[in-house]
Amino acid sequence: MNLHEYQGKEILNSFGVRIQRGIVASNHKEAVDAAKQLTAETGTSWYVVKAQVHAGGRGKGGGVKLAKNLQEVESIANDIIGMMLITPQTSAEGKKVHQVLIAEDVYYPGDSEPEEYYMSVLLNRNTGRNMIMYSTEGGMDIETVAEETPHLIFTEEIDPAMGLLPFQARKIAFNLGLSGGAFKEMTKFVSALYTAYIKSDSSMFEINPVLKTSDDKILAVDAKVTLDDNALFRHKDYAQLRDLREENPIEVEANAAGLNYVDLDGNVGCMVNGAGLAMGTMDLIKQAGGDPANFLDVGGTADAQRVETAFGIILKDTNVKAILVNIFGGIVRCDRVAQGVVDAYKNMGDKINVPIICRLQGTNAKEAKELIDNSGMEIISATEFQEAADKVQEVLTA
Ligand code: GDP
Ligand code: MN
Repeated sequence: MNLHEYQGKEILNSFGVRIQRGIVASNHKEAVDAAKQLTAETGTSWYVVKAQVHAGGRGKGGGVKLAKNLQEVESIANDIIGMMLITPQTSAEGKKVHQVLIAEDVYYPGDSEPEEYYMSVLLNRNTGRNMIMYSTEGGMDIETVAEETPHLIFTEEIDPAMGLLPFQARKIAFNLGLSGGAFKEMTKFVSALYTAYIKSDSSMFEINPVLKTSDDKILAVDAKVTLDDNALFRHKDYAQLRDLREENPIEVEANAAGLNYVDLDGNVGCMVNGAGLAMGTMDLIKQAGGDPANFLDVGGTADAQRVETAFGIILKDTNVKAILVNIFGGIVRCDRVAQGVVDAYKNMGDKINVPIICRLQGTNAKEAKELIDNSGMEIISATEFQEAADKVQEVLTA
């Protein structure tokens, strides 16, 4: 589960990670109140107004702006809330901004310039260990740094039994070129960050930038936090942080129905059991010249109710021009699935307005095909995988 910057920062703060302080606001009035409160708490007189959407690169898209007084806070918040923010990480139409974070300005001028670093904590799947990835090149796309100056990206792997060791935190501060007070601050920052990552059961932290202020404080200016869904049962308070407005509504509905659904751009709806077969089906559709409209794994129990729910969800996508049902009957018998498809088709009546191609293979496949062919429904049956994909192309080009 992805979090907003302000939510991620609150979690970091609760584990002692120093953050750029801020207060979230849903309209320009709240924004001004937030700014006043922030001044009372931190003494700041300048503010940054930051769009809260689940996408990075907000600064580039005009979603992060400096305000030098309360009037500017009000007018900038007014402009940003409600806008469709387009960044390198959103679709072309952008993401609607519902909230802004009013944050203290931490780039205040001083004896030395503020420095920006990059730091993330994530799982290295090759070694099965968590690692801290960091760079002196903060504030820019880490992908660009990786491409152009890969030698400026460092990684530190952490032994799961020992945890982050003090020498590792010191090595990180050293590699970032720090000394004196900032060096000590960075070692504290790194160890608090790692503790937060472990204790919150996160699967990714990305702090870009980590800032060294002109008075040598180290703090998180941005926070991208992804929580591990499988551990949410241990964090009831975090589960409430989910913002459904940021998610695809069809995916939300499918997940609530226990279906594994991912929305895609094509026009062939897919209903498949098993993630591997679903991937294979998408490949085959592509190879036959088509384009899958979704990934959908209906799971093991493809009964009439489930098939009907799945059809309903697939058809919410108005791009869908044909549906390919591709089910392997291993534990579940094909004839039962076929009955499910026929019953669902009957129940849904004219809600099904696109051709359906149905391939059932495995236990009782023959009976299943007969059931479909004799149902009197407009369901096209197929036996072979390739045949099914070809029949999809036939109906699309007919
Ligand atoms: P992102 O663009 O979505 O990654 O959003 P960030 O939170 O990283 O902010 C983008 C940029 O805004 C940062 O890289 C900074 O350059 C700038 N920024 C953030 N906080 C402040 C601040 O307190 N003062 C000033 N002057 N700039 C800031
Ligand atoms: Mn950032």
